[in-house]
Amino acid sequence: MCTPKAMQITIKETARMCGGKLLCGEPQKIISSVCVDSRQAQPGSLFVPLKGERTDAHIYIPAVFTAGAAAALTQEPVDGTTATGALISVPDTAEALQKLAAAYRRRFTGPVVGITGSVGKTTTKEMVALALSARYQVMKTQGNQNSQVGVPLTMFQLEPQTEAAVVEMGMSQFGEMARLAKIAAPQFAVLTNIGVSHIENLHSQEAILREKLHITDGFVAQSILVLNGDDKLLAGLRGKTPFRTVFVGTQPWCDYRAEAVRSEKGAMHFVMAYHGGRIPVSLPVLGAHQVTNALAALAIADVLHVEVPAAAKALSTYEPLAMRQQIHQAGHITVIDDSYNASPDAMRGALNVLCSFPHRRVAVLADMLELGSVSQEAHRHCGQYAARAGVDVLVTVGTEAATLAQGAAQERAELPVRVCQTNAQAIAALKGLLHPGDTVLVKGSRGMHTEEIVSWLLAEN
Ligand code: ATP
Ligand code: MG
Repeated sequence: MCTPKAMQITIKETARMCGGKLLCGEPQKIISSVCVDSRQAQPGSLFVPLKGERTDAHIYIPAVFTAGAAAALTQEPVDGTTATGALISVPDTAEALQKLAAAYRRRFTGPVVGITGSVGKTTTKEMVALALSARYQVMKTQGNQNSQVGVPLTMFQLEPQTEAAVVEMGMSQFGEMARLAKIAAPQFAVLTNIGVSHIENLHSQEAILREKLHITDGFVAQSILVLNGDDKLLAGLRGKTPFRTVFVGTQPWCDYRAEAVRSEKGAMHFVMAYHGGRIPVSLPVLGAHQVTNALAALAIADVLHVEVPAAAKALSTYEPLAMRQQIHQAGHITVIDDSYNASPDAMRGALNVLCSFPHRRVAVLADMLELGSVSQEAHRHCGQYAARAGVDVLVTVGTEAATLAQGAAQERAELPVRVCQTNAQAIAALKGLLHPGDTVLVKGSRGMHTEEIVSWLLAEN
């Protein structure tokens, strides 16, 4: 990702902001974008070469200068005599990128909203940005750029005309959220839920909660945290946070409460009760979890003085992101493409959506990866949940998902279950069992590439 040409900082300022030393080049020249991918370098770019496990991007420094880059950072000794742009020496390029982003972000005086949680970050980020767009010029994270590199790059997209920013912040290790909070310094934050994603590294849900709460490290007196009151661990924070906190959800005590929730014609409809009264909301996507995401967006909009009916109107134009519960009609079959990713919480949400369709409901569920020691138990529980929720046919894909099949069979012995190892096997199994009128949910971890099954369903039916 290369940031757009919105920024204007001199090379001298850049060196100061990232704690580097200018080795060669014109100090007053302007940097107008930052990139970590040498192929995206263009005139005016600052190239930040990162050292990965396999490649060290320092080898691309000559190439970015050929492409016209204005400057490059380096943590290696480089021969500056051939450089056509500036070279800035730093002890660590990844840290320098973060320092520069943090310093650049501090020039922005508008509100920054941080979004984290185990699932639903990107979806909620999109909804918050949409709700805020009813009043503000909004900068939001592009796609899923929520990492230690993605968040810094996002900050460089702040433009002079930006009035509010919505930043997705992800983490998988101890210490990562604290670092991201230093960079993005959100004064407002949403925590969608505490699931079991990355529990392999973080050991317990309590530890995941503690880590995620670092999103509030830079909170100021006016700051507000938005929490999902339907999440058990988050609900436990009631009255215990040292800053203003509002809850969204269906609990009677929630500050922004969804009532009369119903799904109809591919949309969720509900009434939001809050301090300003009760307003009807329609959201053109399915699933109770989407209602919570929308409540968080409306709460942030309200906190940031957007007229709530205007924010709700903006949300009525929400379009789901690719591979995230996108509903397609393929001949006589309805396909719910949720192949972007999977975790136990997201799996349950997707199964609820599937089971809101009339018979027959076919669930094609692949491995949920990165669950470490809880993997077997999580897969078994999901299988039990699928059987209880009312799935009519279950197809599993992968070695972990075989345990999901076992869980389903334990719960409902008569449930037709096909255990497959690969997407190709699952496609072969589906060929023999689909009927007109069926609804097929396809879901699995990113690494399982279940979009291959979706492509087949869309092409062949
Ligand atoms: P990642 O960790 O990959 O960035 P994310 O947290 O950004 O994921 P999304 O991409 O928004 O999550 O959604 C992932 C999946 O979870 C989608 O299938 C989506 O429909 C589902 N989902 C979205 N919001 C929720 C929620 N609040 N609870 C459960 N599932 C959800
Ligand atoms: Mg995401």
